[in-house]
Formats: sequence, structure tokens, C-alpha cells
Amino acid sequence: MDEAIKAGKISVIANVILTIAKGIAGILSGSTALIADALHSLVDVLGSALVWIGIKIAQKPPDESHPYGHFKAESLAELGVGLIIVFTSLSILVEAVNNLIAGVKPSFELYALAVALASAVVNEALARYKISVGIRTKSSSLIAEGKHSRTDVISSLSVVLGFVLVYFGYWWADAVVAIAISILILQTGSEILKNAVDVLMDKVDEELSVRIKRLVESIEGIKSVDFVAVRGTWRSKIVEVHFTVSSEVEADQINEIIGRIERLKDSFPEIVKIIPVVKISKEIRRIAVPVDEEDNYVGDLNARFFKIVDVRSGRSWKIRNDFWNAQKMKGYLIAELLSKNKVDAIAVKKIGVGAKNHLKSKGITIKLVDKLDSLDDVITRIKSE
Ligand SMILES: [Zn+2]
Repeated sequence: MDEAIKAGKISVIANVILTIAKGIAGILSGSTALIADALHSLVDVLGSALVWIGIKIAQKPPDESHPYGHFKAESLAELGVGLIIVFTSLSILVEAVNNLIAGVKPSFELYALAVALASAVVNEALARYKISVGIRTKSSSLIAEGKHSRTDVISSLSVVLGFVLVYFGYWWADAVVAIAISILILQTGSEILKNAVDVLMDKVDEELSVRIKRLVESIEGIKSVDFVAVRGTWRSKIVEVHFTVSSEVEADQINEIIGRIERLKDSFPEIVKIIPVVKISKEIRRIAVPVDEEDNYVGDLNARFFKIVDVRSGRSWKIRNDFWNAQKMKGYLIAELLSKNKVDAIAVKKIGVGAKNHLKSKGITIKLVDKLDSLDDVITRIKSE
């Protein structure tokens, strides 16, 4: 890893030198293209600085006045840098267009050509160096940086091409190259700005939200996951999870669920904080009624079937109880079956302690009902309680 950091530092130093050399040569020779290329290098340096500042800030732990951490400071820095980039690239763009309109003929200067050539060579060397170190240290960001340096080579080479064309009398070439480069920088600048605004506006990371929601839904004892929102920078994310458990679920199990949600953090290095919010629901949505083949109320777990009644729609359907004569883990298997069918209450005449606990741990309420005249009866009875 030290080698990757060293490669990053060398790249920043080289880009600082290139920025200064191209800036001075561009101003002296009056080449707008070279000034634009200097700005491009400056943007690269600022980009690397932002990454570095971001890492430093993200390391700062939350404190009393900033309980959500300090990651937005990075976005504030990005906002500033993005605005600088957009304004400078726009001003170069305007300058180049004005030069074209006014027919300004830049002078051909050998030293300016030499600086642009040197920039292309240095960037090509940087690209090769960063990619090879990146592969060796398995640093994908360094490999990406190396590939970026390749685009810097093209930028500087287009300045060289502009100079050659100017030499042969195509005076407009310098301004055209400047326009092309400044449009590219403008793009980078607006991407940085958009990114900063998204984080500052708490834009939700939908992809990660969906992944987290799926993981939370698979946790036992949760009735429904009502809201999952992931926000923050690509490096520091805050997750809010709202979920509902049935009132049958005991405090110990709720704490266990919260613990499991918080531990999701371990599988996502970018998540710095998970905020679980629990709601306890007494509402019953689906009732299981143990019945026989003729839909007669049986009232215990030896029933061959369960009639499932959806309270809100009044709809009902029958499922087979494959575990009615299970020798082992009967209560557990039936609780599992009912939970899969999203049942939150069961009507029984009697029930054993073991089965009762299994049902409770799945958040299923047990309703003691001695006699049922009809299936509709079960809804009115359970609602009236
Ligand atoms: Zn670049």
C-alpha cells in the first residue's frame, strides 16, 4: 500500500510542475490551448487533493455536535472546487471563442511546443508507472488514475498538434484545441458539482438501499421493512432502516434484530452508521385457522390444513400442513410454514409450550378460540379483541 501512496504523491508533484510550466508558457506565448491544458492539470491536482482531504475528514470520528460524522465537509470542498473548475473552464471557452471571432493569430513559440511535448511524455510515463504499481498493489483507484493520465497525454498531444497547425498557417487551430479541452474540463467540473450537490441534498443511493432492504427482510422476526434510505458520499454512507415487529416479539429478540441490522455494517466498508428504527405493531393482517378437509375447525397443530384469512380483503385460501404428524421440531416447522405465508395470528383451542414459543418468535399471535361457527367469524372475533 505504501507503494501506491508513493505513486499517488509522485503523480501529484509531477502535475503541479506541469501546471506551472504550461501556465507560464501558455501566458507568455499567448496560446489559449496551452493555458487550457494547464488548467486540466490543475483540475487533476485538485481532484487528487480532494480524495486526500476526503480520506482525512472521513477519519474524523463523529462528535457531540456532529453525531452523523463529518463527511459532508468533503462535499463542501467539492462544491467549491467544482465551482472554480466550471468558472475557469467557461472563461477559457469564452476567451478561445473570442480569439476565433477576432482572428487572433498566436505566435509559434518553440518553448511552448517543448513544454506541451514534455507534458505528453511525462503523462505517458505517469500512466505506465501508476498502472503497473496499481496492478502490483491491487489498487483499482491507482489503475483508474493511470488510465486518466492517458487522457492527459491526448490533451497535451492535441496542444502539440495545434502548434504544428499554427506553424503551417492554420491560425485557428490553437483556439479550436482550447475549446475542445475546456469542454472536457467543464464536464469534469459539472460532474464534481453534481456529486457534491447530491450528497448535500441527501440524495438516496437507490441501489444500496435495495440491497440493504433485502438483507433486512431476511432477518427473522421482522414483520415488514417500511423504509430504507442510504445517503452520503461514496466513501461514507449513513443508512436508516425503519421496520415493524409484531407485539408478540419480546424485547430480547428486538435487541437481537437491531444488533443484526447494525452488524450489516461489517459487510459494507463504506457504511459508517446504521440507524435502526423499530415500530411495534398490534395489527393483525393474516390469520391461520387449523381445519380438516371439509373446512371444519380443528383447533390444533394436528390439523391437515390451514385456512389462511386475509383480514383486510376478506379473501381466504387453504394450505396443506405437511408437518401435522412430524415427530421432531413440529412446532418449529409449522411456525416457519406460517411465517412464510405471512401469517401473524393463529386461532387454536390448545397449544403446547414449545410450539407456542416457536410461533411467538416468528411474531405470530396466538388466539385461544374454542369454537368457530364460520370462517368469517374468526375475523370479527379477532378484531373485537
Ligand atoms: Zn486529466
